[in-house]
Amino acid sequence: MTIQIPSLKLASGYDMPLVGFGIWKVPRETCADQVYNAIKLGYRYIDGAWDYQNSKEAGEGVRRAISEGLVKREDLFITSKLWNNYHKREHAFEMAKLELEAWGVGYFDLFLIHFPISLEFIPFDELRWPCFWTDAAQTKVTPLSKVPISETWKALEDMVQTPENPAGFVRSIGVSNFQSQLVTDVLSYAKIPVSVLQIEHHPYLTQPGLTKMAQENNIAVTGYSSFGPQSFLELNNKDAINAKSLFEVDVVKSIAEKYGKTPSQVLLRWNTQRNVIVIPKSNNVDRLKQNLESVTFDLSDDEIKQISALNKGLRFNDPDAFGFPIFA
Ligand code: NAD
Repeated sequence: MTIQIPSLKLASGYDMPLVGFGIWKVPRETCADQVYNAIKLGYRYIDGAWDYQNSKEAGEGVRRAISEGLVKREDLFITSKLWNNYHKREHAFEMAKLELEAWGVGYFDLFLIHFPISLEFIPFDELRWPCFWTDAAQTKVTPLSKVPISETWKALEDMVQTPENPAGFVRSIGVSNFQSQLVTDVLSYAKIPVSVLQIEHHPYLTQPGLTKMAQENNIAVTGYSSFGPQSFLELNNKDAINAKSLFEVDVVKSIAEKYGKTPSQVLLRWNTQRNVIVIPKSNNVDRLKQNLESVTFDLSDDEIKQISALNKGLRFNDPDAFGFPIFA
């Protein structure tokens, strides 16, 4: 039985599924198969980015699913993100076009500014990944570049396909890792709506004010790293190593037992019941299925509150590690 995933109506007028598959750290070697498997299981939203460096393989998986008749392109919701070294208008366009070419999917359903940090341009033929934040030897942080967010946002607006801009190749646009002040600033000049705000969001970092502010402004919130420390263990993040796994927290475990679900499903449902979109990543097909099936039960209001009460402002994805304290 294919699970019907509920969707949210974005400010742009397009629908966005409440559960997607995030592909950060999905290895290139397995990415095409994993994206294909995800679509076969019923996923319709794939969350990628230039920074993840697996877009070509993800696109292969998507095209295989389409060519086998599992889905049509218009059934899918493909997201990518503008990386920090390409905030200048001409670089933003060049990166977005290269990224779209890598995916080979015709258009992006959603394109986000990945971080509100503009770093010095890195030529496209300089294969420096994973060292965009630093030089290749990882001894020097890449310097900032003076590009205002207004220039970058205008570039994204000009990528959107409209009757006046038929050459556009993006349907909806948004931002990621922005705080409330900067979202407010973008709203003051945006001519095309900010459809989505993607932020780190889990019971240890609930950011209630930011979530409320975005949703009140008709900006759909996508929460990343829904399992909190879990994703950052493989990066040897000290805070993640020292934190208690959210899968082991009593309140999460007991709610999971009550419903005969897994702690991961409880954590995902805590998001989607509050209209926060989730994009869990897994390299394992059983877990992909489990994560998708998280929409098949409901928590009570009180259980949602108990999970929200775990908040302690604990952030794992912080570019302060490179000297960019954007969340300070
Ligand atoms: P995640 O919370 O999805 O956690 C992934 C970890 O949880 C992996 O170790 C995986 O093996 C494990 N896992 C997955 N399903 C499980 C299950 N059912 N049971 C037990 N363990 C399970 O973390 P993430 O990858 O950091 O975030 C999800 C996605 O969000 C990313 O892939 C990416 O698309 C996006 N993201 C965006 C940003 C941004 O700056 N915008 C930053 C980080 C992640």
